[in-house]
Amino acid sequence: MTQQNFDVVVIGGGPGGYVAAIRAAQLGMKVACVEKRKNLGGTCLNVGCIPSKALLEISHKFHDAGHQFEKLGIMFPLSRGSESTRQRDDGGSENLVSKPKIDVKKLLENKNEIIAGLTGGIAGLFKKNKVTAIEGAGKFLNKNEIEVTKTDGSKEKISAKNFIIATGSEVTKLPGVEIDEKIIVSSTGALELETVPQKMIVIGAGVIGLELGSVWGRFGAEIEVVEYLDKITPTMDAEVSRNFQRILEKQGFKFRLSTKVVSVSREKSGAKVEVESVADGKKEILSADVVLVAIGRRPNTENLGLENVGIKTNARGFIENNHLRTSVENIFVIGDVTTGAMLAHKAEDEGMAVAEIIAGQKGHVNYDVIPSVIYTHPEVACVGKTEEELKAAGISYKVGKFSMMANSRARATFDDQGFVKILADTKSDRILGAHIIARDAGNTIHEVVVAMEFGGSAEDIARTCHAHPTYNEAVKEAALAVDKRAIHS
Ligand SMILES: Cc1cc2nc3c(=O)[nH]c(=O)nc-3n(C[C@H](O)[C@H](O)[C@H](O)COP(=O)(O)OP(=O)(O)OC[C@H]3O[C@@H](n4cnc5c(N)ncnc54)[C@H](O)[C@@H]3O)c2cc1C
Repeated sequence: MTQQNFDVVVIGGGPGGYVAAIRAAQLGMKVACVEKRKNLGGTCLNVGCIPSKALLEISHKFHDAGHQFEKLGIMFPLSRGSESTRQRDDGGSENLVSKPKIDVKKLLENKNEIIAGLTGGIAGLFKKNKVTAIEGAGKFLNKNEIEVTKTDGSKEKISAKNFIIATGSEVTKLPGVEIDEKIIVSSTGALELETVPQKMIVIGAGVIGLELGSVWGRFGAEIEVVEYLDKITPTMDAEVSRNFQRILEKQGFKFRLSTKVVSVSREKSGAKVEVESVADGKKEILSADVVLVAIGRRPNTENLGLENVGIKTNARGFIENNHLRTSVENIFVIGDVTTGAMLAHKAEDEGMAVAEIIAGQKGHVNYDVIPSVIYTHPEVACVGKTEEELKAAGISYKVGKFSMMANSRARATFDDQGFVKILADTKSDRILGAHIIARDAGNTIHEVVVAMEFGGSAEDIARTCHAHPTYNEAVKEAALAVDKRAIHS
């Protein structure tokens, strides 16, 4: 057993932990980051944001090639040189074009290459910033010492003045349902399927279920989503949620809302899901080749030795924080394992802030302005308050809405589904929230995010020159619409 002494030891090398480690090193501290996975990058880089976005991108291209290209006049004739044609019964002729096929092995190889590149990149950033990476599982012995258990079973004691808990989250299990990651899968298994299932049942109509359902749906799987609540993505603005559901239904998604899953069992091939209507208790058995359990994520606090330092978790298992401090003075907490949105960029911002707080600076995260994005097609992006939240809080607001059908760039790129909605305070015009369904909404939303960070008004955006033709012009028009003076609608 060796002893090492650091100013800061971060437990967990995900987007929260690795950012905290780098920022603390930038501020002149001696830093180590303990990570039990082989690769740095946490859930986000290994089995979350990045692999899911790689599969979403490839599946989107595949779907366009099979369904969109022909409409646009792009064809892949069967024979080289000239197009093959077939005589139709009505006397006309039609082109014989080849349809795309997906090579799933290659698909997964491509995804894994992206993961390897990015996780290796973090290791490089650690070297550059002189952060010591320690592979193994960390456990508190007392408030100044942890024990790290390596993969070979050996143990090492590490001491530090400050600790940051950044242990993230793991998949929430459905009671009584055994996940084998082949037939009954979590998001991790859904990123690794070796063949395209004919039918996939997705349990849970949240962000992860809808993104991964989109991936396999675009490759040809029939997707049926079972959701206990009466709407999809329940925390979202209700108008956005309704519209989004309609768009997904047009893409082939089937939704069973207000439906409870009673049991999931593995069969000889595939699985059976017993469901029950919330309204009348009527039961039904559904079957599928693959069942994706996507009912959420829970904080990672097991085997962390919290009892040795007297840190308690709340009723939902999270470690609560007060400006990122736990109940123990020199132990801090950030990311998915603490309260707030379970998002990579929230974890990263907390990582920066906590390092600055430890260095005696005024690290800060503005929790009112954290965007969230669903990377389907079109994308859905939100920031700030929903209409329902404003109504519940009794805040008087104005709505400015602009349809993507009237946005020239969206028309020119054959992607005119969706709208931009801006909510602004009735009296001050200050922007309170923005909700976008559109191609590239995840990027488009950021001008509103910046405006909100500066306390901006709808008029500020309306008076800002926007390049033409861009999707962001729809944001300007929605801002104009707050004052009922949109030009193009
Ligand atoms: C399929 C999927 C898609 C997602 N897509 C997005 C997205 O598009 N955008 C977005 O913002 N968020 C997305 N998320 C959520 C995002 O991944 C998390 O919010 C983010 O990773 C949280 O960062 P973190 O640093 O708090 O924790 P994590 O990324 O979970 O990292 C924690 C790390 O701590 C390690 N660890 C745990 N216990 C110990 C211990 N005792 N000792 C040492 N190491 C330990 C774990 O191995 C892990 O690597 C997605 C999640 C999933 C599952």
